[in-house]
Amino acid sequence: MKLVVIFGTRPEIIKLSALVKLAAEAPGVDLEIIHTGQHYSYSLSERFLEDLDLPHIQVDIAVGSMERLDQVRKMVHGLTPELERARPDFVVVQGDTNSTLAGAVTARNLGAGVAHVEAGLRCFDPLMTEEVNRVAVDRISDVLFAPTPVSVQNMLAEGHDRARIHMVGNTVVEVVTLGLEHAAAHSSIVDDMGLEPEAYILVTAHRQENVDDEPRLRDLVTALQRIELPMVYPVHPRTCERMVEFELLHVLEAIPNLTLTDPLSYFDFLELARQSRMLISDSGGIQEECTIFKRPVVVVRDCTERPEIMGVYGDVVGSNPHAIVAAVQRIDRDYADIIAVLHRTPTPYGDGKASERILETLQAMSSPPPRGG
Ligand code: UDP
Repeated sequence: MKLVVIFGTRPEIIKLSALVKLAAEAPGVDLEIIHTGQHYSYSLSERFLEDLDLPHIQVDIAVGSMERLDQVRKMVHGLTPELERARPDFVVVQGDTNSTLAGAVTARNLGAGVAHVEAGLRCFDPLMTEEVNRVAVDRISDVLFAPTPVSVQNMLAEGHDRARIHMVGNTVVEVVTLGLEHAAAHSSIVDDMGLEPEAYILVTAHRQENVDDEPRLRDLVTALQRIELPMVYPVHPRTCERMVEFELLHVLEAIPNLTLTDPLSYFDFLELARQSRMLISDSGGIQEECTIFKRPVVVVRDCTERPEIMGVYGDVVGSNPHAIVAAVQRIDRDYADIIAVLHRTPTPYGDGKASERILETLQAMSSPPPRGG
């Protein structure tokens, strides 16, 4: 079986890493990896390829940063000759990025089978870029790898053919489980930063709807100004650009109990998360990972495509500073009880065998199933 895996951003690299490594070793699988270059800086891409010990990337489209549709168009343009040459049985894409969309569209156009990992997530906000990508990629995929029963139901409700849907769990489970072990053995970041375990908050925020919107970004900064616990905030390059543009970086830098860093390596990030008191985040991946490292997360968004964790691991609080601070104070006050509950509550994302199941399913299909419903 000729398998092409396409990825282009930090979360895709992380969540496809276990599958890529299995496929690279599997007899009868001819694997090729294509990087679109959507994330191109060392701190968001190359470092993850190295740390997660991924095999050699055969092709880098090097698309770089640009307006969304130009980026998708440039990726399709770059991917087309590569897929024509590689002639894959299946192209695997993951998640909801522009790379996911471009990979799926190009593969579909050339008649290769399209396999979507993390299919069926929906936040039901049709204006959100990621939602557009998810819905479109699911619609043109031949094989839909759903992480949870909720994602299966979402696709059935949209009329997807049941036979194309495979509930396998989320690949993040196996990646984080191994990553946490490695982090505990090798990362000294908590000590290095002079932090006291379980006494600080780890913050991430980078999504377009938060950081490109000046009032929302200002609200987040206001909330951080009002939080009294020590905080660490690895700032995504996109966020940093907007902070500068909206003249908020110096406000953030002036918060005495806040430490700003560059984006962290995966193992340092997991170690900081594991030992934190809680997280404040708009990240999708972190909403899943927190179910493995057992920390509550205050989700600074208006909706989520990961309802499985709501009310237990996380709460969606929006961008209002009062709501963010109130959620942080509640977790801080009830911390011991919350952590006890989290340790009793299994992750909704499966048993850590999603990558194995995905590979087995693709190997068992000699070619994509015929398209019907
Ligand atoms: N992450 C990391 N270093 C950081 C911040 C995040 O390794 O400084 C990891 C985090 O553990 C998660 C992933 O990056 O696995 C999340 O990526 P991101 O928030 O960019 O994307 P999303 O999950 O929202 O699609």
